Amino acid sequence: MTQRIYDIAVIAGDGIGKEVMPEGIRVLEASARRHGFTLRQKWHDFAHCDYYARRGRMMPENWKEEIGKPAAIFFGAVGWPDIVPDHISLWGSLLQFRREYDQYVNLRPVKLMEGVPCPLAGRKPGDIDFWVIRENTEGEYSAIGGRMFEGTEREMVMQETVMTRKGVDRILKFAFDLARTRPRKLVTSATKSNGIAITMPYWDERVAEMASSYPDVSWNKFHIDILTANFVLKPQIFDVVVGSNLFGDILSDLGPACAGTIGIAPSGNINPEGEHPSLFEPVHGSAPDIAGQNLANPIGQIWSAAMMLDHLGEKQAAADIMRAIEMVLKEPSLRTRDLGGSADTQTCGKAIAVLLS
Ligand code: ATP
Ligand code: MG
Repeated sequence: MTQRIYDIAVIAGDGIGKEVMPEGIRVLEASARRHGFTLRQKWHDFAHCDYYARRGRMMPENWKEEIGKPAAIFFGAVGWPDIVPDHISLWGSLLQFRREYDQYVNLRPVKLMEGVPCPLAGRKPGDIDFWVIRENTEGEYSAIGGRMFEGTEREMVMQETVMTRKGVDRILKFAFDLARTRPRKLVTSATKSNGIAITMPYWDERVAEMASSYPDVSWNKFHIDILTANFVLKPQIFDVVVGSNLFGDILSDLGPACAGTIGIAPSGNINPEGEHPSLFEPVHGSAPDIAGQNLANPIGQIWSAAMMLDHLGEKQAAADIMRAIEMVLKEPSLRTRDLGGSADTQTCGKAIAVLLS
């Protein structure tokens, strides 16, 4: 039998990142023992604000060499607004990875679980279970444009949206491939072709074209305005939802918020071809207000670990972590304060790890 060995770059980052990361690792190690694979961890002491305070930058110039060629990057949280403005900490770390490693998929689950208060009235676990896929590299977030006639009556500002066939097709392919692995096999596309008259009709055309190669997957599309309304009103109708950079950005926060999970949700920034490492991190930030108090909920980090293992092909290990998370969430004494419990970060993390041993 061949040995399954995965090299993982570990970056804990700032604030509660330093507290939840050890719990993510604890669970990964328990999972590796149980499932017979090996994780070789390389911890990196950069991409945090102490590094910035010493060096005036978030990462060393040769960060790519330092990181090498891991199978994945396991990331905590970055940002410490008192020391570094958010745009610098983000641009100097996560967005560098996203760009240099062509992590063109941003993937987030939306899943209502028992023990997590849902802001939507009357929803039960099982009612909400879908994925949001955001295009991560082009679209509305281009830097093409500018200001004209500044300071005059004619002052105006423009910014281009750029969609390429390659960029649109690869994100749609990821969405249809993911839908194919799910029982309902349904892709929902976010559009606004009734108002954005050039790029969005193109997006729609590419969706229809991609769908024709997936006869086993059904699909539909909604304009972004009614789509956001339906996240709130009819979340049960979704399976895999895909959107451009801007629409996906909005949906990937709204979705987890609808399931009450914004504090525990994970995310993947994925390079599906595996040409470059993908990065897995909780959705939440460094949470300076609770950092250093052992109060942080580690589930966002642990759920990110499950997503990472799934990406690496350890499907059973990932599913086992998800089951352990769901069991611990059901038990009030094992929940952290943000979910109305009294457990500290480590108690919650250990409870999940124990279920895997
Ligand atoms: P960012 O700007 O980095 O995306 P943010 O400043 O918008 O992040 P967070 O750092 O995620 O937000 O914090 C938002 C709120 O949620 C804070 O009150 C924080 O304490 C709380 N919070 C975030 N993550 C957790 C967690 N893992 N456990 C408990 N509370 C959390
Ligand atoms: Mg912040």
